[in-house]
Amino acid sequence: MDSNLPEETQLLKNTVRRFVETELIPLERSLPDRPNSHDLPTDIRQPLEKKIRDLGLWAMEAPEDIGGAGLSILNHCVVMEEAYRSTAGRCLWTSLFFPVLHKLGTEAQKQKYLMPGLRGEFHGASAFSEPGAAGDLAGIQASCVRAAGGWVLNGTKCWISFAKTARYVLVLTRLQGTKRHEGLTWFIVDAGTPGFTVGRQQRMIHGQSTYELILQDCFVPDSQLLGEPGQGWAAGETALYRGRVTISARAIGIAGRCFDLMVEYSKQRYTFGQPISSRQAIQWMIADSAMELHASRLMVYDAAWRAQNGQDVRTQMAMIKTYTSEMVGRVVDRAVQVHGAAGLSDETIIERCYRDVRPMRIYEGTSEAMRSVIARNILAQNFMSGQ
Ligand SMILES: Cc1cc2nc3c(=O)[nH]c(=O)nc-3n(C[C@H](O)[C@H](O)[C@H](O)COP(=O)(O)OP(=O)(O)OC[C@H]3O[C@@H](n4cnc5c(N)ncnc54)[C@H](O)[C@@H]3O)c2cc1C
Repeated sequence: MDSNLPEETQLLKNTVRRFVETELIPLERSLPDRPNSHDLPTDIRQPLEKKIRDLGLWAMEAPEDIGGAGLSILNHCVVMEEAYRSTAGRCLWTSLFFPVLHKLGTEAQKQKYLMPGLRGEFHGASAFSEPGAAGDLAGIQASCVRAAGGWVLNGTKCWISFAKTARYVLVLTRLQGTKRHEGLTWFIVDAGTPGFTVGRQQRMIHGQSTYELILQDCFVPDSQLLGEPGQGWAAGETALYRGRVTISARAIGIAGRCFDLMVEYSKQRYTFGQPISSRQAIQWMIADSAMELHASRLMVYDAAWRAQNGQDVRTQMAMIKTYTSEMVGRVVDRAVQVHGAAGLSDETIIERCYRDVRPMRIYEGTSEAMRSVIARNILAQNFMSGQ
């Protein structure tokens, strides 16, 4: 399939692969006391960020006219696939560009929040999940009520990434008295606004922390309303598509690297006088992983290509999000098995990958929610096989 990529995409893929192999993979083992760390020390991180900017890959999905790289969806996917082959510096590629802010924001809001974010001056966070509703987004309860000159917000959010250091948070609320998809409304809440506090830290399996956010009679002026009241559902839904396809690309990158490590190790590890690669049990793990990886790559490139050509890809996005996030779990698990104890220790990157991939089946649409979308669309005949 790689050879069928457009030439420009293949060149980009090769460039990022070289960058990852020369700049990032060597770092994996050379950070003393920080094996397999998510974050890089500032003195290492900053020059790498500059190199990524020089490659034209900063804020990849943001349009060029606002300072992003403006990559097509397919090009964005191949960059993420290659980038995620290394555990070192996965944080470097985290773009905190919020499509919802770009889509609904006024010029003043974009100048104040979006542009400095793209320049790397500060970052924001996005808060829709709540203790009572996250996967079921239409069930959120945080409320907004009109007040003189602005709005009063109340409610609790949870699992919010980057909240502790965010300069502002995009908060999804509902107009009081509305139900389900109606009345959902976004606000931009500045850190430090009275009535808005960052609550307890929620540490995740892969080392990232999320946070609880509390809104208690938090007054925000009209200038902080993002879009029109009640416009929140449609705006948020479209923003998820690029998230799903790039998570799938990340899954392929991680699976691809672990697959390569598994193959290499199986050839050099001898037991009972033979390399373990000579054993059928090991060969089948390699074969199954190769098949699933190949299928995933074809599915993701196809969905990305269709999306950037304006096709309705809601079903395909749900398919690739589910298939690849489950595939990478199986491939990494086999890589652990082939490596034995080495796969569980921080002597290899595989334990890091094992932890990194588990959340992928949960965020941006659980596997179960994605299967519901697929089945619903098929049953409503919005999607036929072979399309
Ligand atoms: C690392 C990480 C970072 C996150 N960052 C953010 C963030 O920055 N901002 C933010 O707002 N949120 C964030 N989240 C929250 C994330 O969006 C939610 O975890 C996700 O939407 C799932 O919601 P939930 O955890 O409440 O699970 P639930 O929706 O409660 O689901 C629990 C289980 O029940 C299943 N289930 C639910 N409904 C059905 C159904 N109808 N039929 C069958 N099965 C069902 C689910 O598939 C799942 O297996 C983050 C989560 C993680 C793990």
